[in-house]
Amino acid sequence: MTTRTRFAPSPTGHVHIGNMRAAVFNWLYARHTGGQFLLRVEDTDRERSTPEAIKTLLEAMDWLGLNYDETPLYQSTRMNVHLAAAEQLLASGHAYKEDKGGTGQGECIIFKMPGTDIEFTDLVKGTLRKSAADMADFVLVRSNGTPVFHLANVLDDIEQKITQVIRGDDHVENTFRHIAMYKALGAPVPQFAHLPMIVNAQGKPYSKRDGDAFVGDFQTKGFFADALFNYLALLGWSPGDEREVMTRDEMIAAFDLSTVRSSPAQMDLRKLLWMNGEYVRAMRPVEFATMCREELRTIRLEIGENAAAIFALMQERIKIRTDIIPAMTFFCTDDYEYDEKAVEKKLSKPEIFQTLEKIAGILEGLQPFDAETVNKALHDFVEQGGLKFGDVMPPLRIAVSGQQSGPDLAPVLAILGKDDVLARIRKTIARFS
Ligand code: GLU
Repeated sequence: MTTRTRFAPSPTGHVHIGNMRAAVFNWLYARHTGGQFLLRVEDTDRERSTPEAIKTLLEAMDWLGLNYDETPLYQSTRMNVHLAAAEQLLASGHAYKEDKGGTGQGECIIFKMPGTDIEFTDLVKGTLRKSAADMADFVLVRSNGTPVFHLANVLDDIEQKITQVIRGDDHVENTFRHIAMYKALGAPVPQFAHLPMIVNAQGKPYSKRDGDAFVGDFQTKGFFADALFNYLALLGWSPGDEREVMTRDEMIAAFDLSTVRSSPAQMDLRKLLWMNGEYVRAMRPVEFATMCREELRTIRLEIGENAAAIFALMQERIKIRTDIIPAMTFFCTDDYEYDEKAVEKKLSKPEIFQTLEKIAGILEGLQPFDAETVNKALHDFVEQGGLKFGDVMPPLRIAVSGQQSGPDLAPVLAILGKDDVLARIRKTIARFS
């Protein structure tokens, strides 16, 4: 039997990465098994599931390359089917009507739990069991005539012939009810896999308060879709070896629900940034160059001379698109900003300006002005003067780039060229001494 998985989000206008992680796992499982991955939009909450919210959802899936098979099923179109099934459950004795609370506002349809323990083998968590005494009957159709989540969710999974329901473990309790419903409806019970919760550093559910939590946040911040996808795949799963940076094909080949962990998965934004940096390093140089040029052009800057050397140096360091402007502006213009804190920390003592003056003198006499020669001259200067690198290099870096950190200084100076470096050092002395 071919596997059929699905992503069944309720659109709200923001796509939480916890939901997207469920989509990624469903997608990987379907692709790994050669089955189908379906989309079902659980849009019965008409206030939240606006056309814009649905558009945001579809765009997020598209951006992450989560292509789905068949046309999406919109849950709101199936209300009559859901209500008819509730009637069927009434007729077969699996449900009953009740005026809940006796308010006279009309009757709900209540599902009658079978009165037996329910057990299932979760593909992630193993055998789960709940005793009959702990499971109460529950509402299927509200007194206002609308179906509840359980009814719609189960019927749509039956309609879409889902074979593996892969979802967050906040749904475990629901699953016991759902299994009872499948049986009452005479439908085959799918397999279930409940994915570990995504938590913050304190072990609490990861939320917007902990940092970026929506797919759109990562997109606008300049993360790559492939890196985010790769990162999400590792939130609870690993290929069972040391690999972390993987192509989509490698992930498809290695993915398995039996290697999904049941313990909570910690969201680590620094690791995601690292991951994105790995994708930057893996770019073809020409792609990296294009990305940098595009980004710099948004503030009307152009990389002029020595472009190839600049790109080669920076591809090792840039972790995300939004690093480009702050990290590379000084290569494009003499009119770079100084990091105020760095200036305060490293350019406050008067001696430093004498040191910079001396360095300028030494650099002026260098021939050729390449990284190796510059590097040796700076080393000799520090050693012969009995100075410390930590006292000399940071001020020099701030002088030529405005920044406290950056790539190796000698190649930076060589790329800028002697005239530019001397002018920058002197401009800095004039401004801050
Ligand atoms: N709309 C539900 C949710 O987003 C679906 C859960 C499920 O995957 O069954 O939580």
